Amino acid sequence: MDRLRQAAYRAGLDGIAVTHARPLTYIESFLREAQAEGRYAQFAHEDIGLRLDPKNVFHAAKSVISGAVAYKTVEPGPAAPLTGRISRSAWGKDYHKVVREALERLVPFLQAEYGVKQWHIAVDDTPLIERALAGQSKLAAIGANCAAYVPPFGSWVFLGEIVVDVELPTFPETAPSLPCEECGERCVKACPTGALMAPGKIDAKRCLSFLTQKTGAIPPEFRKKLGNRLWGCDTCQEACPINQRAKRAPREEFSPIIGPHYPLLELLAMGKAQIAQAFGETSMAWRGKNVLQRNACLILGNQKAAAALPVLKDTADHHPSPTVREAAAWAVAEIEGA
Ligand code: SF4
Repeated sequence: MDRLRQAAYRAGLDGIAVTHARPLTYIESFLREAQAEGRYAQFAHEDIGLRLDPKNVFHAAKSVISGAVAYKTVEPGPAAPLTGRISRSAWGKDYHKVVREALERLVPFLQAEYGVKQWHIAVDDTPLIERALAGQSKLAAIGANCAAYVPPFGSWVFLGEIVVDVELPTFPETAPSLPCEECGERCVKACPTGALMAPGKIDAKRCLSFLTQKTGAIPPEFRKKLGNRLWGCDTCQEACPINQRAKRAPREEFSPIIGPHYPLLELLAMGKAQIAQAFGETSMAWRGKNVLQRNACLILGNQKAAAALPVLKDTADHHPSPTVREAAAWAVAEIEGA
């Protein structure tokens, strides 16, 4: 296993663990309860049974290698006026690509060392529950904020898996542990929307990370709570003392291409092609123009940005998307005190 660990580090992973490809039964009741209570993540696959068993990826699956790539690079620093904050996870190159490439580099070792013939690499693109797999494999501990923590990088890690057709030795023997009960629920208290209802209990539909990425209107009750978040929300992770002390990963791939803060008037002036060019290398690109411009309008309203009024009024009158027009009109009303 030391050779596998070393090969994983050479491939570009910062953490690795191996577990059997058996169903994640320990998390089933938690997911069913979330679904019954309407707290289930909208981006997640509706069929919980499909998400629980790695053999649904392919029937001959015997083991799952969980890998982590750390992404805490620089600190966000203070925001300039008329800018919106981008989640740390989206500052650099699209992590799906970076993590997949690292896992792909490990495959030749698995073939040569263990005779792996069939494998499937997953990075947020299968129904598999990656955090739960990282927990089952003992790669990560799940924090009170529901994030996966991989020492010494805190929860600033991206996860990915290689499901293979060979029974590999499982490791490590002990899972990392977290002192969550000692910090006074800082993450729960910091959550602006109450999405983090209690330690380990989240209403994914109230989470700003989801709301900033969904299409359509952001419901009025969340608009002020959005603050200056243009994409994602790092608040419950940043509130965590473990994360504040977490080791940095000075990876070039995750150094900011965009962000940590993005100029909002510039964003509102962009067409589709310019947005694709500006955000194309990052994990934000998939959502496109309207979601980003909707968020930009709401933030300018929250900032009471009088300097943005001409642009917002023009957007409210002429933007092709009714969602963006409505968000701009909301912002104008906020700024003018209507
Ligand atoms: Fe709350 Fe933000 Fe954490 Fe979502 S990401 S649970 S909104 S603090």
